[in-house]
Order: sequence, then C-alpha cells, then structure tokens
Amino acid sequence: MIESSGCRRRRLAARPSFSVDVCDCGAVHLTVGYTTMRLDEGAFREMAAMLSEALSEMPEPRSQRLH
Ligand SMILES: [Zn+2]
Repeated sequence: MIESSGCRRRRLAARPSFSVDVCDCGAVHLTVGYTTMRLDEGAFREMAAMLSEALSEMPEPRSQRLH
C-alpha cells in the first residue's frame, strides 16, 4: 500500500484502546493498542462485516443471561 507523508487522516471512531482513521489516500488505519494495521477500504469493510458476523455468533456471557 502506497502512503505518502503528505497523507491526511480523519478520525472515524475511537475508544481508549482502539481507533480507526481514514486517510485521504484511501487507507484505513486501524489501531489496536500499540499496533496499527493499514487496510484498504474494501478490506476494512470486509473485516467489519466479519466481526459483526462473529459477534452475532458469539454465545452470550453468562453474567448477562437472565434465565
Ligand atoms: Zn494515506
């Protein structure tokens, strides 16, 4: 992925340990702790959809079960 030093990033979302920025060259910067992954937009969308799918398949935590 080509990224020049002149790239400008725009923050899309952030949490204390995570952030997502999009660069004007099209790269998405996903920061998890001390690691930053650079993905193209298509890969990022695919990953987001996959995480959403994984979340929907995940068993509920015991502490949140009502019965
Ligand atoms: Zn860039």
